[in-house]
Amino acid sequence: MLQGIHHITAITGDAAGNVQFHAGLLGLRLVKTTVNHDEPGVYHLYYGDEGGRPRTLLTFFEVPGAAPGQPGGGMFHSISWRVPDGASLDFWERRLTEYGTRVERGEGSVRFADPEGLAHVLLARGTRDDDRPAQADGVPDEHAIREIIGVEAISLKPERTRAALVEGLGMADLGDTLVVGSGEHVGSVRLHDEAVSRGMPGGGTIHHVAFASPDDHHKRWRERMTDAHLLPTQVVDRIYFRSIYTREPGGLLVEVATNGPGFAVDEDPEVMGQALVLPPWLEEHRAVIEARLTPIENPRAPR
Ligand code: ZN
Repeated sequence: MLQGIHHITAITGDAAGNVQFHAGLLGLRLVKTTVNHDEPGVYHLYYGDEGGRPRTLLTFFEVPGAAPGQPGGGMFHSISWRVPDGASLDFWERRLTEYGTRVERGEGSVRFADPEGLAHVLLARGTRDDDRPAQADGVPDEHAIREIIGVEAISLKPERTRAALVEGLGMADLGDTLVVGSGEHVGSVRLHDEAVSRGMPGGGTIHHVAFASPDDHHKRWRERMTDAHLLPTQVVDRIYFRSIYTREPGGLLVEVATNGPGFAVDEDPEVMGQALVLPPWLEEHRAVIEARLTPIENPRAPR
């Protein structure tokens, strides 16, 4: 069985503002500052909990200057996060409002969007002993955002998407919601029933969603995806995890990523995220890459 949502990757047109919002305001930890391996002149920024663990990871590809996109068919959108309780929702309603973010308070939820329009929902779902909330100025541990528990999917062909996620990725079909994983390692995908025309990629839209696999089951997931006619890619080494991708028939790009080895594989976990890390094959181009990248300010970096 897969083990929930490993990470969600979205697009940002404004890397500096993106760090300010997610690390500064939301208090997530920038756990890795690196470049897009497939396009090394731009950032790939990873945010997560204090340990940068699977199920807490929101990542962004930078497309400098990209205008906000429009979610639509073939795209995921709206990320649900677990926060502890009603007092946490009060805290986030206040904090977000203070910083000028429009908030919609519901029964047991707080909804808002990042400055580029990426929708978020905070849900009061309790704490767990193994929570490792990110340490951030102005965000007390008891209210810190814990983990990603769900995402919405808009498909060009909902019934084919449902079949792909159930047969290829082993999700449980609960009607409008598909459940991936069980117990404490669980996430949900809410599938919109109506086919919708294609969305427009851009800032604030989700590029893909990755589901978590135990390292030793990863190859078998590829076989299962192949058997379900999902035409998966080969296994790709992303240094922090290994990945298999497929664009399912409803247009959604999905990934199955290993839990390990994680973000401490090339940096001291105490300071990870603060310096620009390049994969070994790009190290010789560091000066050129650094000169091209947008300056960003990590709130945790020493001043
Ligand atoms: Zn990914």
